Amino acid sequence: MIVMKFGGTSVQDSQAIDRAATIVKGRLAQKPVVIVSAMAKVTDQLLTMARAAGNGDRKTALRLSRGLRERHYETAGELLGTALHTEFHTILGEDFEALDELLRGIVAVGELTPRTTDHVAAFGEMLSSKVVNAAFAARDLNSFHVDSRKCIVTDSAHMRAAPLVEETNDRLKSNVLPLVQNGRVPVMGGFIGSTKAGVTTTIGRGGSDYSAAIVGAGLNAERIEIWTDVDGMMTTDPGICPDAHRIKTISFDEAAELAYFGAKVLHPATVLPAIQKNIPVFVLNSRNPVCEGTRIAARVPHCRNPFKAIAAKKRITIIDVAAPRMLLAHGFLRAIFEAFDRHRIAVDVVSTSEVSVSLTVDSNESIPALAADLAKLADVKYEGRKAIVCLVGENLRETPGIAARVFGELSDVKIRMISQGASEINLTFVIEEDEVPGVIQRLHKVFFTDLDQEIFA
Ligand code: ASP
Ligand code: MG
Repeated sequence: MIVMKFGGTSVQDSQAIDRAATIVKGRLAQKPVVIVSAMAKVTDQLLTMARAAGNGDRKTALRLSRGLRERHYETAGELLGTALHTEFHTILGEDFEALDELLRGIVAVGELTPRTTDHVAAFGEMLSSKVVNAAFAARDLNSFHVDSRKCIVTDSAHMRAAPLVEETNDRLKSNVLPLVQNGRVPVMGGFIGSTKAGVTTTIGRGGSDYSAAIVGAGLNAERIEIWTDVDGMMTTDPGICPDAHRIKTISFDEAAELAYFGAKVLHPATVLPAIQKNIPVFVLNSRNPVCEGTRIAARVPHCRNPFKAIAAKKRITIIDVAAPRMLLAHGFLRAIFEAFDRHRIAVDVVSTSEVSVSLTVDSNESIPALAADLAKLADVKYEGRKAIVCLVGENLRETPGIAARVFGELSDVKIRMISQGASEINLTFVIEEDEVPGVIQRLHKVFFTDLDQEIFA
């Protein structure tokens, strides 16, 4: 058994859903369970209409709902023959009536709670999974729609509910497994679940990957496939280095380090339940299904290259806090971090000396206020237009001399901060933002010219 998850762009319109059907057809021998996101942008639109309703703006809420209705009808119309479409139209119609009624209810009460938000947000995956199921059935896929709310059991922390593993696994075994054993293709929505009492919940934005991992782990899948619209993870941003290579296989820890750098692909934390059970996760491209994508696994073969990827994050500000008077005073770092906490600013890289601390944050408009606050403790300077560059790879842990080689290559570049995280699989440094393309191109050329063919494509 395998789990195939199609993200929002992979079910965004009738062509995308048609492509998904063809991809699933090619995998029938492996007994797929299919999980789908809402069609692209639908969750955002649902949340916007829920907020509009909560603010008493009934007109906007219902207008947005009408737009959604038209898009789903149109997509279904393009995917299904006339007879099928008439029948399906009625089914979808009931859902849209329920959505409108819910929106009117929110307007009447004049309040939008997290619990009601989940009720509205869940329509995205409910609708997409029904459309995809109907399209699959019309393409002889022997599919079967499963209401995820009957399988994924969660706590009641609405909008970011946590799955209850044992209950969920029991439900998956009784509601999904028999379908697979009978040669059917279950189609279910990601992102949504319900409490033990049956109240609809959602498991956090982008949660469909998490749903795929939960289902795959619960049913002991052989593999989990995350179908997106890129070929997989790359050695670096192809926008900067056109000769960037696809990473064929990467460890979970390495992928997690890269996630921070906006590797838009997927946030590895969401597939942890699968990795913990040693189930490999593949990132694949629904527009280029012959590409083998990237395999993420707990353990991966040794790589001859010293690291797997180079990533950069721009729009960084360095904040330098220097306090000679605080020399050796305890509580100094705490006071600094409390200031960041008060301003709700997250710190990324930190380096310290006896009398000063440098920290990086994403550039944002709250920094002057934070700096004013910090100035009560020490001398403060801040400077924007910086970038974090990060080299990631398990080999960094064992191979001596890599830092010397990296910084040797960059001997003419002004390095503002250096840090090697506790995981020892990243080497991070901060440079001027406009140096990013040059630095990345140089490092990529030096470290990725002679490639380990097992690891890179
Ligand atoms: N539709 C949900 C979202 O946009 C879940 C997902 O797509 O993963 O956050
Ligand atoms: Mg996603």
